[in-house]
Amino acid sequence: MKRIYEAAAYASSSDDGCYWRTTIDDARAPYPNVEDEITCDFVVVGAGFTGLSAALHLAERDAGRIVVLDAKTPGWGASGRNGGFACIGGEKSSTRALRKRYGQEDVALYHQSQRASIDLVAELIEKHGIIADTHSNGETLLAHRPKDVAGFQDYADLLQADFGVKAQIIRRDELAEHGMNSPRFHGAITSPLGFALNPRKYVLGLAHAALDAGVEIYTQSPTTKIGRSNTGDHLITCPKGLVRAKTLLLATNGYSSENIPDWFAARYLPVQSNIIVTREMSESEIEAQGWTSDQMSYDTRNLLHYFRLMPNRRFLFGMRGSTRTTQTSTAKMKRDIRRDFEAMFPEWSAVETPHFWAGLVCLSRNLTPYAGPIADWPNAYTALAYHGNGVAMGTYAGSLLADMATGTKSRIRIPGLMQAPLRKFPLGRWRRAILPPAYSWYALMDRG
Ligand SMILES: Cc1cc2nc3c(=O)[nH]c(=O)nc-3n(C[C@H](O)[C@H](O)[C@H](O)COP(=O)(O)OP(=O)(O)OC[C@H]3O[C@@H](n4cnc5c(N)ncnc54)[C@H](O)[C@@H]3O)c2cc1C
Repeated sequence: MKRIYEAAAYASSSDDGCYWRTTIDDARAPYPNVEDEITCDFVVVGAGFTGLSAALHLAERDAGRIVVLDAKTPGWGASGRNGGFACIGGEKSSTRALRKRYGQEDVALYHQSQRASIDLVAELIEKHGIIADTHSNGETLLAHRPKDVAGFQDYADLLQADFGVKAQIIRRDELAEHGMNSPRFHGAITSPLGFALNPRKYVLGLAHAALDAGVEIYTQSPTTKIGRSNTGDHLITCPKGLVRAKTLLLATNGYSSENIPDWFAARYLPVQSNIIVTREMSESEIEAQGWTSDQMSYDTRNLLHYFRLMPNRRFLFGMRGSTRTTQTSTAKMKRDIRRDFEAMFPEWSAVETPHFWAGLVCLSRNLTPYAGPIADWPNAYTALAYHGNGVAMGTYAGSLLADMATGTKSRIRIPGLMQAPLRKFPLGRWRRAILPPAYSWYALMDRG
């Protein structure tokens, strides 16, 4: 597998510090590995939100024999190690730029899909009895500069017009009474869309629901090659066996490889995000900071911070990661994230953060998610690039893959912007070099 980061990013140990791993074991493990030859109707490569949602939706339609493969274990990728914000925002492009490029109607359809993606996560949790430690009534955006407050009314208007929800704008002098005290914020806007969850409990819940519906899951079975037989079947090679399938769904997102299949080369850009989680805090420690709200929150920076006080009184704090995965870069990120945490929540400067980890999110050159065919291959589809917001959109895109693979009309028409061809990034395998200057530029834009 040709991948663009150092090997450490893809090592089994890369999620060692992840807090979620301490909260649940996979009761259905161990899973079988691919050995010998398996023939099926659908093969799904990647057992995260996208792949498992696709498989579950296929199984609910009695679509045939469905096999999911993962190089590691269900949820080992970004799905089992993210911030757990089930929210809108799968794109990085501004609404204005999207409207200019795709038109008002298509963007409204996309916003409708985003709302449906949150509803889908809630539905799946309810339907399959997944205990995912949910909390937070929507999400709150905090202004890190006084001037950012000025944009909140436009955002509220957009939420009303395209999402049909009413947002609440909170002035700086009202933040403390909303339990959001920090010297760094100048106001906030709360949208009622979304909720927070334990992502590992959710992704394992999806895996178990898929198993119960008849899906077969194989782990420690990296796909090393994808080819085609004379009869048009997809041939998925693993180290100890082969899977032959009529339809291929690729759900590898930020952990994709340049040559699985070759068409993927340079069409996605993995980017690291980091998280720390505190030890459990006492009520007096929480009161001392005055951050008592359980709202999932993020700030107005381009290089944003995301954070939430969880029901068990631990605080989760995340931000963009390094552009490398060496020991030195990881140590620096650990220092940087701790510095930013203490600056925003100074009363917690002495609170330990025993959990630190990183993972790969995925960008597309269009800065929009993609759910559609793989090149001009018949019966081959992929969904990826949720720009760090794939809890809801990955789940939803998985359901779209199931629709496409079975020729089913989607409940909401798939927006054109999610099917715009995946363009290549410049610099090919070395495209990671785009990130340091881009981060410097965004950091400059975030000043003031
Ligand atoms: C630190 C962090 C914080 C985040 N916070 C949030 C958040 O709060 N809210 C939100 O909405 N999103 C968040 N995200 C993004 C979100 O986690 C992802 O968008 C989402 O998990 C993508 O799901 P996926 O199933 O497409 O991919 P992944 O979950 O990454 O799964 C891909 C799977 O493919 C497997 N794979 C790769 N190559 C092969 C191969 N050749 N053969 C077999 N298997 C293979 C991998 O082992 C992996 O399990 C965050 C991500 C990170 C890393």
